[in-house]
Amino acid sequence: MKPARTFSVALIVAALFPAAATAQGIQYDKIEIKTEKIAPNLYMLSGSENVDPGHPDGAGGRIGVLAGPDGIFMVDSQYLQIGDKVLAAIRRIDPGPIRFLVNTHVHPDHTAGNATFAKAGAVLLAREELREGLARQTAADPARLPVITYGMGDPVKFRMNGEVVELIPVRAAHTGGDTMIRFVNADAIMVGDFYRNFGYPFIDTNNGGSLKGALEALDYLMKISGPNTKLIPGHGTIIKREDIVPYRSMILDVQSKVQDLIKQGKTQEEALAAKPTAAYDGKIPGALGAAGGGTSADRFVRMLYSELKK
Ligand SMILES: [Zn+2]
Repeated sequence: MKPARTFSVALIVAALFPAAATAQGIQYDKIEIKTEKIAPNLYMLSGSENVDPGHPDGAGGRIGVLAGPDGIFMVDSQYLQIGDKVLAAIRRIDPGPIRFLVNTHVHPDHTAGNATFAKAGAVLLAREELREGLARQTAADPARLPVITYGMGDPVKFRMNGEVVELIPVRAAHTGGDTMIRFVNADAIMVGDFYRNFGYPFIDTNNGGSLKGALEALDYLMKISGPNTKLIPGHGTIIKREDIVPYRSMILDVQSKVQDLIKQGKTQEEALAAKPTAAYDGKIPGALGAAGGGTSADRFVRMLYSELKK
């Protein structure tokens, strides 16, 4: 009886929160936190490879840390289970107070650790939609919820540690409550997950994401970036503006192939079988890796099919 019940609960959790679907297989005890220096006082923290089935390129979502005499400003909080390791990594950078934490989007690999830093004194900020999404997850610790929220207006700006940090709201892209975080002087932007270079794009339509919004967000990101701006996705490698061009073309190309299949009257299963991503599968790392109950390519094609079918 018991294993069956556990299994069904896991399925319900997986259906409600796709990003949590692989949480069962994450080897939290094996996750080490790597620190990468982006600018004199800006650091990126990421998890180990091959211990998180949903993110074999690096466990959990990337964390940003702006350090200095005005206190620490953080972007995203990783998994709750590795809070001590993240705190230790931050303490190796700077022993000062952790004052602010902003979330790029609602998924647990970016928000589950929020409570750890709220308890350490950080004020949590995010889009109103993100807070609503987190609050709907009944299991969420209230300490994980943002205290300050904002909408789709002008960027919220922080002036700390000689840096200007802009929280730039993004309309319905990867999720319905995305934010990009720009560090003006470091010339770096934390993009969140609407761009990814491990596996195909993931538009979480169950959490308010949209393909149209993701394409608009890519255009806007190109517009506000310089040729040397460091664009830092939630997962995968750091890119430059020029790398967005082939990514955007790939989305449009696969989109038009799926559109043709719909015009031919193909069902979603037939469209999947036609492999509209075939030209890219060999070029994109993780293209055929597991994601959302199939491969990353399948998840992408399913999303395109249902968005275009509307
Ligand atoms: Zn993520």
